Amino acid sequence: MSATENDPFLVNVIDVSHRTGEEIELHREFPVPEQLGEGFAKVLAGTPMTLDLRLDGLHDGILVAGNVHTTATSECVRCLDPLEIPVQVDFQELFPYSPTEDFDYTVHENHVNCEPVVRDAVVLSLPFQPLCDEGCWGLDPETGKKLNGPRAEQDAPIDPRWAALQALNTEKTGE
Ligand SMILES: [Zn+2]
Repeated sequence: MSATENDPFLVNVIDVSHRTGEEIELHREFPVPEQLGEGFAKVLAGTPMTLDLRLDGLHDGILVAGNVHTTATSECVRCLDPLEIPVQVDFQELFPYSPTEDFDYTVHENHVNCEPVVRDAVVLSLPFQPLCDEGCWGLDPETGKKLNGPRAEQDAPIDPRWAALQALNTEKTGE
């Protein structure tokens, strides 16, 4: 197997290249070769990815439309619980036969490289600040344990300094 055949994002387009109206569809499943994303949420190398592609031969280039499924891993930004985030994104990109200023990619040696397109689509879909739940209360700053509600409602031990003040207050109201 050559290096190009090993690259899951590289697609041979010889059957549709310069053949307007021709199309090919393909389905690939593979482990992600390289990590996608640099933020809290990322798709780690080795994570299973499913790629469904449809390539249409057009007059000026090849229209590549696809759908990608994978899983991102992260931590909740509030409570730090580990998270698995399902990722499912659609993308569409025209690869012209010859390079132009209007398009980022091009058909190269009868291949299109979908890697940058898939990468952009996946990374843009990842949550910037992932949460285990919209209502996550985060961690108790004292105990480091996950809170189940607002901190005041918990039976947290009262700071001894406040307890002393509270005692004074009770004495006053008792007069
Ligand atoms: Zn959380």
